Amino acid sequence: MVLQSGTKRILKLTPDGLEQILDVLHKIGFETIGPTLGNDAIVYETIGSIDDLPQGWTDKQEPAAYRIIKRNDQAYFGFNAAPQSWKRFLYPPDRTLFRIRRKGKGLEFMEQEENTAELALIGVRPCELEAITIQERVFTSSEQRDDSYLAVRKKLFIIAVNCTSSGGNCFCASMNTGPHAKENFDLALTEVVNANEHFFIVEIGSETGLSVIHDVESAEPTEDEVETAAGLVRQAESQIRKLDLDTTPKLLSANLEHPEWDEVSKRCLACGNCTMVCPTCFCSTVEDTTDLSGKLAERRRRWDSCFTLDFAKVAGGNFRTSPRSRYRQWLTHKLSSWVDQFGKSGCVGCGRCITWCPVGIDITAEVQKITGT
Ligand code: SF4
Ligand code: SF4
Repeated sequence: MVLQSGTKRILKLTPDGLEQILDVLHKIGFETIGPTLGNDAIVYETIGSIDDLPQGWTDKQEPAAYRIIKRNDQAYFGFNAAPQSWKRFLYPPDRTLFRIRRKGKGLEFMEQEENTAELALIGVRPCELEAITIQERVFTSSEQRDDSYLAVRKKLFIIAVNCTSSGGNCFCASMNTGPHAKENFDLALTEVVNANEHFFIVEIGSETGLSVIHDVESAEPTEDEVETAAGLVRQAESQIRKLDLDTTPKLLSANLEHPEWDEVSKRCLACGNCTMVCPTCFCSTVEDTTDLSGKLAERRRRWDSCFTLDFAKVAGGNFRTSPRSRYRQWLTHKLSSWVDQFGKSGCVGCGRCITWCPVGIDITAEVQKITGT
């Protein structure tokens, strides 16, 4: 189907149409990254075709529990937040910033090459889309601007996928981040699969999205088809657990000495898992190393966590020595002081920190205990 700019930007695609979109993206030079099945989990990796997607699989998530199981249909996107978020593609866990080599009596500085990859992310959940927007604000809007982040972000192509079922630990609807993607995507899909049919309702979110789908076989959906897709998203929303976003920031900052901080710190291992899986956490540290010959040195940036003891070590001492203070710092930053800093919450409600906390600490349950909501 040939679309004219300005025509109604909703279409219906078959799985073959999705395959054609991947073909178009490959032809214009994108590396396509999407969900795959690996290590008994859904893992975001390079995909060559829709055959690489975890068709017919879903995940079951509870506090400290994750497993994949077969679905009774052939949905391509029938699961929720994958263990690792997309952040590692924009903000790598370990990056060489520069190298210095001894040259004669002087030194040669070698800048790290910029990442020139053109990435198309396939299957970004609405909460993850918002997480990308939150990190973008952090990395691009201040004097700490990260040009390597910008270089990848500028060329990113995003196919979002609306959620048609809720994960056990999701609370995106409370954070106004899902289950329906509203903006910041090039294309957004809602997958409909039942005994009789399998199709996607596609919303076009950008001119690039329009040009990619331009020559792909598609059709005008009927009102019933659009309503069927919307109904699935509404059904997911009704399943999602709730957190009161309006009152939480103020109530948390008013309860910094609540006894629950002591209680939760007895269980918290200060392992930092919650920060590693969180799609919005952005803290890093910088390390300098030299090789054994003393001729080559390098400076690396790697992800860090506010749960590590060294994180708060400064000249004169450490200002966050107890797990209580570290857990309190993390939770209040996500849901309270982030709002003061950036104008909105630093949590998108993906639930990863609940699933991947080895002792099953649930951020929503902690908020409810501390704020009394
Ligand atoms: S704090 Fe937890 S639920 Fe919120 S965005 Fe981070 S990992 Fe997801
Ligand atoms: S809350 Fe859980 S995941 Fe986070 S540091 Fe504590 S034990 Fe680790």
